[in-house]
Amino acid sequence: MKHDLKNLSLEETEQLVSSIGMKPYRARQVAQWVFRHHAVSIDEMTSLAKEARTRLGEVACISTLTLEKIAISRDGSRKFLFKTADGYGIESVLMPEKTHWTLCISTQIGCALGCKFCYTGTLGLKRNLSVAEILNQVSAVLKAGEFQEKLPNLVFMGMGEPLLNYENTLKSLKILLSPWGFNFSHRKITVSTAGITPAIKELAHDLPVNLALSLNASNDKTRTFLMPVNKKYPLKDLLKEARSFPIPARKRITFEYILIKDVNDAAEHAEELARLLNKIPCKINLIPFNEYPTAPFKRPEEKQVLLFQAILHQHNYTAPIRMSKGSDIVAACGQLGASITAGR
Ligand code: SF4
Repeated sequence: MKHDLKNLSLEETEQLVSSIGMKPYRARQVAQWVFRHHAVSIDEMTSLAKEARTRLGEVACISTLTLEKIAISRDGSRKFLFKTADGYGIESVLMPEKTHWTLCISTQIGCALGCKFCYTGTLGLKRNLSVAEILNQVSAVLKAGEFQEKLPNLVFMGMGEPLLNYENTLKSLKILLSPWGFNFSHRKITVSTAGITPAIKELAHDLPVNLALSLNASNDKTRTFLMPVNKKYPLKDLLKEARSFPIPARKRITFEYILIKDVNDAAEHAEELARLLNKIPCKINLIPFNEYPTAPFKRPEEKQVLLFQAILHQHNYTAPIRMSKGSDIVAACGQLGASITAGR
């Protein structure tokens, strides 16, 4: 079987090109064609001699995802629906911010964690995405847009739990951050997790990226109800890891808090949250719940959201209200997968 160049680190590409008699330094050129110029065929690598391209083509290929559809929201967000080679759907969302774009990418097909507020969680886990499938979401969007000058911010916050596909997430991150790869700044990449505590510790050791924790509750009882993963990794352990996570300079940990009517949106929850996060340098993103067909919860009224925010402000927290982008195209937080059949 041919090696997919999108799955390979620079060292692995060096080994591959050496094995067919090419000089190892050619690996860097190959990687740049793949990750910087988003080449889709080895024939595009015109800095290699024709004969070298032929030899490389005999042992290697470059995979792509099939772009099935782009849905454009009223707020300018774009949801990309891709198809994998084995027929699964993957969704990625590109969102406009004031000064830049943010691209939200997926790491799994479906998700095993079953958070009650999340449509993806209802699908169950189909499988992990490969390194190539994670990176191909970025390549396809970069190729389609005018981002060569200014790369978008990247958030690993789409379908799936990135830290339960740890090996492929980590390798993708390394390729995204490498000068021979996509060359993203670590300040532009955020990994979001539902709280896989041992993997947070590993990530802290392995790579300097921004961390977002999907918190959504101010106590274990409510969190376990909303996010069954909390039973295994309770708040005390999660926040211990958060406190010791090495955050890039001038950055803070982000806590995501989805506000759900009559579940976690009361004034006493806001007070409890303020106590819980005491002394953690952080930002709390308040996200009013995005309803979707069959959703079991409701979005709180605006005055309740504002009251919750005001209490956090009184305790000196930064707590912006994030109106999720793309809800009219079912692309908002927790809605991914709702517009596709994640199965063959
Ligand atoms: S919120 Fe994230 S971790 Fe929870 S079910 Fe959805 S995709 Fe999985």
